[in-house]
Amino acid sequence: MQARQAAFPLLDPVLRTGEIGNLIRGVVPTVSGIAKGPRPERNMDIYLDANATTPVLPQARAAAIAAMSDDFGNPSSVHGTGLKARALMDAVRARAHRVLGVTHGQLLFLSGATEGIQTAVLSALTALRSRREGGEALPGLLLYGATEHKAVPEALRHWNTLLGLHLDVLAVPVDGSGRHDLAWLRERAGNAGLVCTMAANNETGVISDLDGIQDALSDSPALWLVDGVQALGKLPLRLNERRIDYAPFSGHKLYAPKGIGLLYVRDGAPITPLLAGGGQEGALRSGTENMPGIAALGAVLEQLEEGGTFKTSATLEAYRERLTEALTEAFPGIVFNAEPAMTLPTTLNFSVPGVPSSVLLDLFDAASIRVSGGSACGASKARPSDVLVAMGLAPWRSASAVRLSFGPATDMALIAAACERIRACGASLRDSCMTPDMQQHALPVDRITRYVVDGAVCYLVADPVSRRCVIIDPLPELTQPLTQWIRCRSHTLAAVLDTHGHGDHSSSAAALRSEVPEAFADGGDTDPLGWPLGLDDIRLGALRLTRLAIPGHTADSTAYVLDDGEGPQAVFVGDTVMPGALGRSDFPISAPLQFAPSLNALDRAVGRDTLLLPGHDYDSRYACTLNTEIPRQPLLAAALDGSMDALEFARAKAALERDLAPTEFQTMACGARVDRGGELAAVALTPGELDRRLEAGCAVVLVDVREPYEHRLGSPPALDRVARREAVALSALVNTIPQWLALGDDVELVFFCRSGNRSAQAARALRRLGLKRAWSLAGGVALWPARSDEQSPAAA
Ligand code: PLP
Repeated sequence: MQARQAAFPLLDPVLRTGEIGNLIRGVVPTVSGIAKGPRPERNMDIYLDANATTPVLPQARAAAIAAMSDDFGNPSSVHGTGLKARALMDAVRARAHRVLGVTHGQLLFLSGATEGIQTAVLSALTALRSRREGGEALPGLLLYGATEHKAVPEALRHWNTLLGLHLDVLAVPVDGSGRHDLAWLRERAGNAGLVCTMAANNETGVISDLDGIQDALSDSPALWLVDGVQALGKLPLRLNERRIDYAPFSGHKLYAPKGIGLLYVRDGAPITPLLAGGGQEGALRSGTENMPGIAALGAVLEQLEEGGTFKTSATLEAYRERLTEALTEAFPGIVFNAEPAMTLPTTLNFSVPGVPSSVLLDLFDAASIRVSGGSACGASKARPSDVLVAMGLAPWRSASAVRLSFGPATDMALIAAACERIRACGASLRDSCMTPDMQQHALPVDRITRYVVDGAVCYLVADPVSRRCVIIDPLPELTQPLTQWIRCRSHTLAAVLDTHGHGDHSSSAAALRSEVPEAFADGGDTDPLGWPLGLDDIRLGALRLTRLAIPGHTADSTAYVLDDGEGPQAVFVGDTVMPGALGRSDFPISAPLQFAPSLNALDRAVGRDTLLLPGHDYDSRYACTLNTEIPRQPLLAAALDGSMDALEFARAKAALERDLAPTEFQTMACGARVDRGGELAAVALTPGELDRRLEAGCAVVLVDVREPYEHRLGSPPALDRVARREAVALSALVNTIPQWLALGDDVELVFFCRSGNRSAQAARALRRLGLKRAWSLAGGVALWPARSDEQSPAAA
């Protein structure tokens, strides 16, 4: 039985923007193949995120099932059923002692490493508090490695406060290779009450120098906690020989289920129970034991002890070498963020110049390769990885980092399949002009492409026939991707325009012009906003850009009207009208008295239904029209219906803008938002609800809003009865909005993406623009609806 959501055909043809017209005319689009060599029929999941968790080994699954069915006893019961359970638990504990080489210490079963860490920290800090209460002078420091898993510093701070110790909690710095600064540690070790250093890092795989740390602690009174989570089954910790006091382990990182872990406590190390109750685990960890978990962990430990399932280090290193080769071939310029010689053979952490980790994660996920970001990606901005920041790596490396990790039971077939798909990922990225190697491609070109940085929006307007383009409101962060876009698609840059002199960010027009001088063909003189002197319009093939002065937000504010011969298609209005706000007009360079007349001029020039594309879009609303804003923005309504004159309007606006707070991006807000999220109506459609709508015969148009580099790698299977399927990336969404609005309320427009986040943006934007039946498929392709020809798991 295949996991239904994993079964994507690679390179499934999907319609792109611009091809929708073809579809309407009945022309079937073709997609050029990007992967060379045999084409896999089915795109099964390739799970390379073992440092996050692992699947459960078949033997472990069988042992857990036995412990839930035949041998379900409670080990505290004194009858036969209970005695069998106790015998099983004792045997697993004895095996754990053997596997971990522990003869002088205890191993407690508990729920996982986070609980093990809490117990160890509570134990050490309670002992310190008792010493203080006994009148002893305490060491002043609690130390933890700067790259520890969050559970460690958070537990230290939590228990330090709760127990009223108030010791200084300090991070031991690491060097560029991720290893602890032993000189720093040695200097402070004499004043430390507890030192926490992981055996191997979960993000980079960097192996700590435990002997060096032990040496640095030789004269220290500190207790020593070593987080052994990522080392279990991969690296001997020599717990008997080293003076380690506590070592937590977690079953789910090594093919046991979640919810079972071990805590090693050295003989003589203080221990305080975290959970008191029925007295299980020698009263050190009360609560009826998780017998299925213990049985499963026992089966994993058996494989470790008996051999056979887990590969040797040499084999794992050879696997990693294969993956490294494939990655290097796929992503020229790739850098690896840790030295292979110093890391677990099962972990690779890398960054690709110019490609943020969010893009790589989407790309890999589209190819059904499951990896994780070296950084936690927030909705709008990737948060750089704390681990890589602690290592002092360049910010771009922390922001672009990806972790690929596999378990020691992995086989060569999976590695080979992974390598093949990694190469396909590289090809897709190159074919989509997403890598800086500046190859030239005849790629489909969207009329308008939108780029957003911290809420500020830049547009690229292009015509594929004349190969001419214009950039509107360039941002410094975009110089490299825009240059890449222009070169890769061999376009001529007709102009770089600003809608006004910006207050919150600098324009990068000059940088862009000097970066692509060969593409800047019309390089004559321009006005300060970049408009070529002497021209009434800028022609991009059949497209025509004209300008309209709309002073107010600033005295130089200008709108650019895009006309395709059939009237205005879209207007780049800068900050004058944004979805939910009018641009602020309290700058020294503002012209508040001209604001209302400018709004009327815009109304006269383009009418109330033309799409207005804003210079800022803090809430991912994409576009608005005067008609969408009039009911939401009373000031705009008053200016347009003449109920306020220019002076009254300017006064009312000034009152609104008093004390305008910065945006969530900590940039200056470009307008007072009077309409915040009123359209947060539920747009999520569950796969079941979609199924029901299809069953009921509703007309459904499904739109893949993933980027081209993602849908080139494959799409979820077709669904029966879907009327139409389109692919329109979010970056090109504004092009298709008018066609979707024309669908009216008889059609269900269902957006989907990888996880449901991007599609929710698209659905909300369309709802706000008036389309009542815009939806986002909840869970994205990860929860794709079953096809009628697929078996349900129950039937398999
Ligand atoms: N320590 C390390 C190094 C880890 O990688 C993890 C899990 O990611 C933990 C601790 C927490 O383990 P658990 O999920 O068992 O609580």
